[in-house]
Amino acid sequence: LFEVEDERAAPEPAPAALFADIVFDRPLDHAYTYGVPDHLASKIGVGKRVEVPFGKGGKATAGFCVRVTDVQPVTAFEIKTITRVLDDDAIVDDHVMKLTRWMADYYLCGWGQVLHAVVPAGVRDNAGTRVASFVEPVPKEKLPNPLPTVTPQQKTALDKLKKENRPLEVLQLARLAKCTTGVIGGLVKKGLVRKFAERIETDAAAPGHDTDTDDSAAPAPAIALNADQLRVWEQIRGALTTGGYHPFLLYGVTGSGKTEVYLRAIEEVIKQGKEVIVLVPEISLTPQTLARFKGRCGNLAVLHSHLTDAERGGYWRRVATGHIQVVVGARSAVFAPTRKLGLIIIDEEHENSFKQESTPRYHARDVAVMRARLEGIPILMGSATPSLESWANAERGAYTVLNMPNRVESRPMPAVKLIDLRHEPKPPGKHFAIGPTLEAAMRKTLKDKGQIILLLNRRGFSTHVHCEACGHVAQCAHCDLALTFHRTKNALMCHYCGFETAPFMKCPTCAQPSMRYQGLGTEKLQTEIEEKFPGNVCQRMDSDTMSKPGSHQRVLDAFRDGLIQILVGTQMIAKGLDFPNVTLVGVVNADVGLHLPDFRSAERTFQLLAQVAGRAGRGEKGGQVLVQTFTPDHPCITLASHHNYTEFAKLELVHRKQHKYPPYERMARLIVRSEKEDAASAFADTLAAAFKEAMKRMPAPSGFVSLPSNATDTPAPKAAPIRLLGPAECPVFRLNNFYRFHFQVQSDSSAALHEVLRTVLAIAK
Ligand code: ADP
Ligand code: ZN
Repeated sequence: LFEVEDERAAPEPAPAALFADIVFDRPLDHAYTYGVPDHLASKIGVGKRVEVPFGKGGKATAGFCVRVTDVQPVTAFEIKTITRVLDDDAIVDDHVMKLTRWMADYYLCGWGQVLHAVVPAGVRDNAGTRVASFVEPVPKEKLPNPLPTVTPQQKTALDKLKKENRPLEVLQLARLAKCTTGVIGGLVKKGLVRKFAERIETDAAAPGHDTDTDDSAAPAPAIALNADQLRVWEQIRGALTTGGYHPFLLYGVTGSGKTEVYLRAIEEVIKQGKEVIVLVPEISLTPQTLARFKGRCGNLAVLHSHLTDAERGGYWRRVATGHIQVVVGARSAVFAPTRKLGLIIIDEEHENSFKQESTPRYHARDVAVMRARLEGIPILMGSATPSLESWANAERGAYTVLNMPNRVESRPMPAVKLIDLRHEPKPPGKHFAIGPTLEAAMRKTLKDKGQIILLLNRRGFSTHVHCEACGHVAQCAHCDLALTFHRTKNALMCHYCGFETAPFMKCPTCAQPSMRYQGLGTEKLQTEIEEKFPGNVCQRMDSDTMSKPGSHQRVLDAFRDGLIQILVGTQMIAKGLDFPNVTLVGVVNADVGLHLPDFRSAERTFQLLAQVAGRAGRGEKGGQVLVQTFTPDHPCITLASHHNYTEFAKLELVHRKQHKYPPYERMARLIVRSEKEDAASAFADTLAAAFKEAMKRMPAPSGFVSLPSNATDTPAPKAAPIRLLGPAECPVFRLNNFYRFHFQVQSDSSAALHEVLRTVLAIAK
């Protein structure tokens, strides 16, 4: 990643009056200055892409223009010039420019990398568009004098065009007037018709066309708000009226009617002539949710992960041209190129699917808050189980809490009963996942014509395959991870990298026929249910069965229609589902995620239990929740069973503070990886040395968080202590053929943390 500049004697600097700073899709920490040749001076602009010679061989490379200036840079190097400007209009506006700049600083990656990730491929390559030739009548005052004569065919064409009263594509007009394009060409030559080119969407009359995915969904009628909703809504309306940055945390129990509040806010913003971005977890992008938005949200764009590049590009352009009022989507929707953003809403703000796991590794909630700050608008974050980061922000007064402690129409929260698996009688013989208590409750529910949701957060059939003779465990060929047996596929699979191999009974190590298939996944659970409850339909919902677009919805529709009695699934079924006839929710093993080496494991377990419990008793029949667990005394399980989020948050925050975990401390994790173990290990040592060096140099970290990012004039905070753990092998040492070491770096000052990381990366370069 060395910056390679050509040092050969540079002739006179190019006499360019304008200079542009360009960033590239590379992990580089600064922009490169290029000269703007005269013929491009009117075309260059911030937020457009350009083509420039870059790197050793001066290879033609695309980059984003991030600054234009007429101040000649002071440099000993030759200033190269821009070859081409690739966009007619800026594809990234000022706000998103600032936002991406902040992201590059905050997440320690290249500004160009962020821009590249933020702008969909379909926008960069104009997918789904074409350049079309249009014609329109020449206005009266510009007509030639005397008027030329026209052929009958030309007259027909001209009349048609005048009647349409808008520009038509040449081919369109030819079709309408039943003539050749030559006839129209004749009109152009005679000066009666003006011809011009414009880039348009390939799919027909794109602007303004219905962007929803499902036309059958009926719009939800407006509902009269109840007292809690009204109280909350008044506060939000106040903020929308005054304007300005105002972050709200809408803490409302499951079924308290948060969505109705969002809809009110959206309607208000549309009335103001502004736009709304609504971020939801990917799994919520179902017609069931969207139907509630439809009809009350003006023009709605839905950004989900099954879109093609062309479709994504189309939405982006329609948002950018003001044809869309509401953008609903998963995390990347936070970058929607709205023109007058009035509000950002984040539903289920605690969801970890808002975190992106590849560069730039951003958290959409944090980016959304920063965007709201930059644009000076309110942001509404809703959850029944807020993230502890947001809760802590609320406690220190940074967010306003809006509280909705009751379900609508005074429906009670469902009773949650814990079943202690240590004392649950075990029927002789085969080991069952569903104990007698849960089984009895299921029988009763089915008898009463209720429906059941069963949660098991682990997919596959047997999750552990090992040799009873020598202890060999079936492992992935590329990762230090045990393989899971999938019966439908008849394969052993790695859940991380997708590696697959045929199941075997003979141990590859000791050659004994003693491989045992153990452990429980959703697939095996489904088999057990089908054995125990014949005559009932049990459907499984996990990423194995739900990979095709639309499959999720088909299952939910069938469940709603009563064609399915028992729905079994992973966390996928815990979120957002609203089925009034679900009177029993069972959790097969509450402890699945509790002992993971992650400081958030208790928080995640609490959230999952609270969310899945919220699926029960949403209708008039009420409902109950049964939770099987080996650790009924663990606070996160006990408190989830009492629907006591606030107590859980209090306890967990004390724990975080004691152990110096976020949100009290800032934490960064550095992973060194290589396909060669030696190389990974050696570089980890290099980094360790760089850390030592960097901590020595540490005294004055600069405040990068302040915006706009002119870090130099912010007072340097006092040196804050940095704690470094590592290098150590990652918990999963080998992943996808990469050997991995990691460092954990902590500090109570995020500025200090960033400073040391930047220094380390610079030293190690
Ligand atoms: P949450 O998002 O908080 O879980 P929802 O917004 O899904 O809650 O609301 C739960 C149910 O209550 C939905 O079916 C919704 O239509 C209904 N609902 C919302 N507000 C009201 C209200 N004021 N009166 C009656 N029903 C309501
Ligand atoms: Zn693997």
